[in-house]
Amino acid sequence: MGRHVTRGLAAIILVLLGLAPAMAADTKLKAMATFSILADLITQVGGERVSVTSLVGPDADAHGYSPTPGDARHVAEADLVVVNGLGFEGWIERLIKASGTKAPVIVASKGVTTIAGSHDHDDDHGHDHGDHADPHAWQSVANVKLYVVNIRDGLSAADPAHAALYAENAAAYARKLDALEGEIRTTLQTIPAERRRIITTHDSFGYFSAAYGMRFLAPQGISTDSEAGPKDVARIIRQIRRDKVPAVFVETIADPRLMQQIARESGAKVGGRIYSDALSGPDGPAPGYLEMMRSNLTAFRDALS
Ligand SMILES: [Zn+2]
Repeated sequence: MGRHVTRGLAAIILVLLGLAPAMAADTKLKAMATFSILADLITQVGGERVSVTSLVGPDADAHGYSPTPGDARHVAEADLVVVNGLGFEGWIERLIKASGTKAPVIVASKGVTTIAGSHDHDDDHGHDHGDHADPHAWQSVANVKLYVVNIRDGLSAADPAHAALYAENAAAYARKLDALEGEIRTTLQTIPAERRRIITTHDSFGYFSAAYGMRFLAPQGISTDSEAGPKDVARIIRQIRRDKVPAVFVETIADPRLMQQIARESGAKVGGRIYSDALSGPDGPAPGYLEMMRSNLTAFRDALS
């Protein structure tokens, strides 16, 4: 009896302090994603059962991210950590160690057939870029269907009581991915084959081009860590002129100046902003994966048709 009273008082005090909603949220599974695209996929599969946070936020570059002490605390509090893998988050292993977390780490890209990063990247800085797998596997919708399966399995293992719900959400989202993939193929077919050529700042559309028959070129390699050298830029400009590439695009995570220079010197036009490695904020055109892919598709179609 006395205990109930004490508990009741505690609840009233918490409500007065405005802490009650935070306590309610704590009953959800806490998933930590490394970047915004993964965070959206976890939200799609986890629904109301999962609260998702992302280490690297919208419009931000995950390649060269520097984790903060606050990040280590957040990772330590997570029930589940979801990473892309394929070397995309070069900083994650140290962060996980530093956090001391015992939470399971799900590699979303597990099972993806990788493609190599561009080997013709001209390296003036003595770095080694060419031997790594391209980490941007989410640019193929078929790969994201694998991501969703891996996320579903990870959530179900961490929270078996809601496995049926995660399976249902994953299946519903997979149907949306199928519809998206059909749209991408239909739309790209309306662009003449010789105009399906695009230049972006860094080499982030390899999976997209392999899956959907586009040709992408980039002065920078598969990571934004290295700068494009003058030889890379000169090579791209020659290629644009020779192949009559219609448009260059600026990824939202990239500095637009390099593409503006390349457009000026090659005669190609600057197409719309495209989303390679990060979503937009909630009010932008790419708050989720489906919207991101549709927004890119519209930018490609408008610039190339
Ligand atoms: Zn990238």
